[in-house]
Amino acid sequence: MFSDVIRNISWEDTTKRIFEKTDADVRRALSKTRCDVEDFMAMISPAAEPYLEQMARLSQKYTRERFGKTINMFIPIYITNSCTNSCVYCGFHVENKYKRTILTEEQIIREYEAIKKIGPFENLLIVTGENPVKAGVDYIAKALDLAKPYFNNLQIEVMPLKSEDYALLRTHGLNGVICFQETYNEANYKKYHPRGQKSIYEWRVNGFDRMGMAGVNKIGMGVLIGLEDWRTDVTMMAHHLRYLEKTYWRTQYSVNFPRMRPSENGGFQPYVIMSDKELAQLTFAMRIFDHDVDISYSTREPAFIRNNMANLGVTTMSAQSKTDPGGYACFPQNLEQFHVSDERTAEEIEKALREIGLEPVWKNWDVAFDKPNMAI
Ligand code: SF4
Repeated sequence: MFSDVIRNISWEDTTKRIFEKTDADVRRALSKTRCDVEDFMAMISPAAEPYLEQMARLSQKYTRERFGKTINMFIPIYITNSCTNSCVYCGFHVENKYKRTILTEEQIIREYEAIKKIGPFENLLIVTGENPVKAGVDYIAKALDLAKPYFNNLQIEVMPLKSEDYALLRTHGLNGVICFQETYNEANYKKYHPRGQKSIYEWRVNGFDRMGMAGVNKIGMGVLIGLEDWRTDVTMMAHHLRYLEKTYWRTQYSVNFPRMRPSENGGFQPYVIMSDKELAQLTFAMRIFDHDVDISYSTREPAFIRNNMANLGVTTMSAQSKTDPGGYACFPQNLEQFHVSDERTAEEIEKALREIGLEPVWKNWDVAFDKPNMAI
């Protein structure tokens, strides 16, 4: 399990080593075709700042070689904002005294139908808060069943589950799971996640092993930028990614590093601010480190950054997202998890991507691929 691995990697020592990286370390990393985590640390270090242009060119080259000019489009649907946790940075925080919604089956169908009118989306991400009693595995399974007539590729972003639950959900059409570790800093983890199941660091960090063991086709991981030193946190994620790729090598992986956005919980302020330039540096470094990983940007990022980075390393984007349950059709004014930044319509985003020579892809998975005899 990854918890055994990460406990042997010192947070403080990693931070120190990143800031000690030199010009020579960066040049060595950029000269390699296969980088290790030490190289990644050099590329995200302050010493790499003068090399941004070279990194952008390399990142674009590797992205084009592996993904062509395609950008996979997906849309999230929040089916409940009910949550028993109290992440200090989130609008769905249990102590946030708003009326909570758990969409009924009829409401979920109305939302799916509304999404299909927005654009030709086939990649759907079903999102819930963490309420295992009121919106647990059975509820998620039902949402997947209801989605199958409308969408080809079903992913979930829900509470970490047992391996057998992931396996069960695969029989309901589940293709991918996204889970954000938020931060790999175990010493401070509880400060941000003081109660509920999410407060258990080990349960969360080992959730990715449970997905891998259940044979989930695609695993998405992420660090929430704004909690701890971002360079150290993403280095831990790079270790995690390498560990997973080695251990569950049949699985595809995606990464995401959202910068914290304002939410409705009384104004938690990020401890760490990542500049646009640093976000670009991290994206290039991630692509040079891992040519195959899918790099995803959500609508948390503004339109101009998404347009620029779509050409230089990003391979997946959400569009016209609502982060409140019922936001597409049933309850447009519900409690949202965070305010989106890119408020363009799916059509506008598609047009902007085509104008810069990219090809938005609405369908990148077919359920037919998921038959047992198709296993590699
Ligand atoms: S981040 Fe997720 S688990 Fe935490 S309060 Fe928000 S919805 Fe609940």
